Amino acid sequence: MAVRATVSRFPMDADAREGSGLLWGVTVTPFAAADENGRAPSYGSSGDLLPRCENCWAYFNTYCELEQWSWSCSLCGNLNGLTSDAVERYSRSQSCAEMMSSFVDLELPSQDSSEEAAMQACPVYVAAVDLSASEEFLELTKSALLAALEALAPGSLFGLATFSHKLGLYDVQGPIPVVKNVFIPPEAEGTLPIELEDVMPLLQFLAPVETCKDRIASALETLRPASSWERTTAAGQGLDGVLIGGRARVFAFLSGPPDYGTGQLDTRRYGEQYASKGEDADRALLPEQTPFYKDLAAVAVQAGVCVDIFAVTNEYTDLASLKFLSIESGGSLFLYTSTEDSTLPQDMYRMLSRPYAFGCVLRLRTSTEFKPGNSYGHFFPDPQYENVQHIICCDSYATYAYDFVFENNVGFSRSKSDVPTIQIAFQYAVVVPPQELSNSGGVSTNRTKHSLQRRLRIRTLQFGVAQNIHELYDSCDPEVVLSLLVHKVILASLEEGVREGRILLQEWLVILAAQYNDAYRLIQYNNGSSVRSQIDVAFSQCPQLQPLPRLIFALLRNPLLRFHEEGVHPDYRIYLQCLFSMLEPSSLHRAVYPVLTSYATPDKQAYPRHSLSRAALITSGSPIFFLDAFTILIVFYSSTADPTLPFPPPHDCLLRTTINKLKQERCITPKLIFIRGGQDDASIFENFLIEEQDVDGSGLTSVMGFVSFLEDITQKVLEFMK
Ligand SMILES: [Zn+2]
Repeated sequence: MAVRATVSRFPMDADAREGSGLLWGVTVTPFAAADENGRAPSYGSSGDLLPRCENCWAYFNTYCELEQWSWSCSLCGNLNGLTSDAVERYSRSQSCAEMMSSFVDLELPSQDSSEEAAMQACPVYVAAVDLSASEEFLELTKSALLAALEALAPGSLFGLATFSHKLGLYDVQGPIPVVKNVFIPPEAEGTLPIELEDVMPLLQFLAPVETCKDRIASALETLRPASSWERTTAAGQGLDGVLIGGRARVFAFLSGPPDYGTGQLDTRRYGEQYASKGEDADRALLPEQTPFYKDLAAVAVQAGVCVDIFAVTNEYTDLASLKFLSIESGGSLFLYTSTEDSTLPQDMYRMLSRPYAFGCVLRLRTSTEFKPGNSYGHFFPDPQYENVQHIICCDSYATYAYDFVFENNVGFSRSKSDVPTIQIAFQYAVVVPPQELSNSGGVSTNRTKHSLQRRLRIRTLQFGVAQNIHELYDSCDPEVVLSLLVHKVILASLEEGVREGRILLQEWLVILAAQYNDAYRLIQYNNGSSVRSQIDVAFSQCPQLQPLPRLIFALLRNPLLRFHEEGVHPDYRIYLQCLFSMLEPSSLHRAVYPVLTSYATPDKQAYPRHSLSRAALITSGSPIFFLDAFTILIVFYSSTADPTLPFPPPHDCLLRTTINKLKQERCITPKLIFIRGGQDDASIFENFLIEEQDVDGSGLTSVMGFVSFLEDITQKVLEFMK
């Protein structure tokens, strides 16, 4: 569990927070194997015996004061009694995890060890494939599913369903695959004429992967596009038909918008908005057009089903409506605009071969002076309890964010006796792969049985209190500030449109710069004529704040916040919103302001970091540049590079090793592109060199760019301070 705060020393009180202009909050990556410094938790058992505070329900941790018969809570100060068992356990002090570390991962006793529970623990995967699609789409989907079969653990169950104007269920457990079809009523309100369980019993539909892999593969080979006369359209109906209880995962492969049967989406609104003038198209296309998929997501969540959406399409698909199915259920949303350079099979393989936590409950507690304000991320709030979030399915990358508010106007005491403390409890289950069981007679049985293990992961953190605004600024982590800002801006654009989102972002920077200038007394009000030259929007006195103007500038240039008129497809914007709101802070940093390095040769790095500016590139004189924009990696050979340098870089060189390592560590498969300047089209690389580009999107001009953006901010700071 990695936890990062916007400031490591918390503001003294609400005035100090407001006066700084900074955001106050944390990002939490609950299922990360280590903490933000790379330390693993202390593992232990008997999580159910961990003492809890009778007042605030926080868990016992290393920051609590322990007496022989009692302990005082590090969050609320309450004195709690210890049971005699706990007294006995804690007298042998270093023997249990919660005495050794403030980061623990404890097993919980299983509630049910019956045969049925073991069956329940089987991971279930269902692929729902859109047949009203092209040959290319189906070829790509087949390769993705073949990759999935390789990644799935033995003991998993797999079901194959197809949808178009009819729903097809495959039985792959016999000698030849059999498909049973049900026609879907065309009316938007229609329901299936027959229960799916009657079409094909669940146990016939779900086949064990290890014994049926070949037959699943041959069933995939039989998939054909619905012929053109019957290819009326696709239907989203297939998705809700296959919901089954337990830990199931549904892969929905879409080749376009569902426009048949229940849940059909009207894609004309895209054309209408495009044509209309004067209306904010970004605002009109961002909300969902029907609650159908949001409601369906609620059903999926209830049933413990996680839905991953793979949209392979370049037509308007209205992901704004569909996205709820994946984000609310903890699934992923992938958008590929072309079947040709799609990384779908790789993404599928990586997604399935990494560990997952299921059925998670996340709870944040704080010490009494403050409390969580807003929470952000792909979870759904508990209907009953505040600050409790449910996550159906969570991988080690999934990140959530919270901001804080003060409980009252007192704040933290100046005597340093208050230590701001937060505690994050993450209860989750993992599927433990089957182990070979051997009986006492030495005869081994290799019956594959998964078991479900519940665990409780607790992290308690203490923070300092900034005694003045300088301490507050110096303790800032700009990457975490960026994370919280991105969440706020996405919410603002969903509610009030992209234009409002951009305004909010610029205003935030203006206020921060104004407060900073005020704090450092950089402005002499009595010397009116020289005020302007003394405004410092580069934060030159505070290295921790210096990256922020560049990040804001880059965010304003990002398709996330650029206008519809500039050619940002609404589905792509939704895809970015979903991606950016789950990334951990360092990955988000790369996605917003890509890392540009240069190489003297494929084996020797020249500079570790360049700003994204054409001028910087030219002056550096390096022949090879490597750009990492998170979803895309570009190797660019300058047109003046020595022609004897091998292109593309050879497989065993430093640059390749770096690229492979980055691909390995990433939650998605980045697209890798090699470009030779002067020979290939370099526009995709040049578009990333944003610092000379216009921030408003009103076109490339010689006067705009990062420098004039700072000028503009300076002007606005002056106006604000007046
Ligand atoms: Zn307490």
